[in-house]
Amino acid sequence: MTDSLGNWRRTHYSKRIDPEMSGEEIIVMGWIHEIRDLGGIIFVLLRDRDGTIQITAPSKKISKELLEEIRKLRKESVVAVKGIIQESGKAPGGYEIIPNEIKMLNESKLPLPLDTTDKVRAEIDTRLDSRYIDLRRPTSSAIFKIKSRMLHSVRNFLEKGEFIEINTPKLVASATEGGTELFPITYFEREAFLGQSPQLYKQMMMATGFDKVFEIAPIFRAEEHDTLRHLNEAISIDLEASFCDQEDVMHILEAVVHTAIGDVIEHCSDELEILGVDLEIPKIPFERIDYGDVVDIVNSKGVNMKHGEDLSRAAEKAIGETMDGYYFITGWPTDIKPFYVMPNLETPKKSCAFDLMYKDLEISSGAQRVHKHDLLVERIKKQGLNPVSFERYLAAFEYGMPPHAGWGLGAERFTMCMTGVNNIRETVLFPRDRRRLTP
Ligand code: ATP
Ligand code: MG
Repeated sequence: MTDSLGNWRRTHYSKRIDPEMSGEEIIVMGWIHEIRDLGGIIFVLLRDRDGTIQITAPSKKISKELLEEIRKLRKESVVAVKGIIQESGKAPGGYEIIPNEIKMLNESKLPLPLDTTDKVRAEIDTRLDSRYIDLRRPTSSAIFKIKSRMLHSVRNFLEKGEFIEINTPKLVASATEGGTELFPITYFEREAFLGQSPQLYKQMMMATGFDKVFEIAPIFRAEEHDTLRHLNEAISIDLEASFCDQEDVMHILEAVVHTAIGDVIEHCSDELEILGVDLEIPKIPFERIDYGDVVDIVNSKGVNMKHGEDLSRAAEKAIGETMDGYYFITGWPTDIKPFYVMPNLETPKKSCAFDLMYKDLEISSGAQRVHKHDLLVERIKKQGLNPVSFERYLAAFEYGMPPHAGWGLGAERFTMCMTGVNNIRETVLFPRDRRRLTP
């Protein structure tokens, strides 16, 4: 038998109650986290979004009917409790609630696919299959509260900096940087693809006079490999700004990271504590290291890397052992960076591209872009691509394209840095990877 909500509404979340409110009648709502029946007294731990509340039902103080009702409650059922707050040194938060009335709003099937009390550890696949239950565990939900705060902070920061938030299409006709990482889809009579990056669109926005734009949206990458750092659908925080070079947008990126971490420390102290993370605001400016020096360091650590190669996983690990915290790698070889990256004027073999790293993890790539039409065509050809497939994009460079620069910051990778989790799947509600397409 279940009750209807009727005119009951939650008056307080667990976090908003304190022992000084002793004597007040309140309504709390949530899930039965644990229940302990000692005969003469029943303890129920009710869990809401913010924590748990102890409901104490002593047979001497409450009616027989109510006691029987409480006795019938099962784990993870949804209930509402009206009762009186009472100070209690032993209960979580220093208070307990003596119930006057209980509404049983919905029952849970038992046994549960996984335990919500963290007493029994479940494999990540089991957790992801029943993600809605997994997210009842504070150690899982804390990650998403932090991610939410980070995204809020980034948006806030960029809006204050007079950036315009844009939305670009995710259904696209051709590849951004060549064909390998694309998901083909059927678009009526034609083939289309899921967008791997808003790169070309945000650059076209530079030809509009918008000057400073950003987008927070999914990117789709058909990454074949199954790693702890790659997803097939991720959220990219993308930014592009006109009349800027790479140094300018590196400053913005540093400030974004610095501000977001500060904001998370300020607003998510409970979540950081649940995760056991001692987050510190990184000092800016971040250290910069030239690609050439990276190659030397990597080799000195016994990992083979030639000049002109991208960082392998082993190389990332080797450099991550030397460099702590956040740092930029600059001076990347032009040949291994995408066609839209500007070569250095004096030394064209080197580019104006940078990566932002956190220890051994790449979290952002950016650059000053090529804004000259003819150079762009030359770069596209040099990378073995056909300028014809970039016709509409290239046209934007013929009618007054200002110099510009930008970056893309992976929201999940950045969340990994802040939460200390080492599997990127932990930072996505419903991850998409090589093997997983449901739920
Ligand atoms: P990696 O070398 O680690 O595979 P990338 O250089 O291919 O990354 P970029 O194209 O530079 O990635 O994308 C910019 C940022 O977007 C990356 O620094 C990363 O934070 C994020 N990102 C890119 N691909 C993925 C992915 N498959 N899963 C999660 N985040 C990603
Ligand atoms: Mg990159």
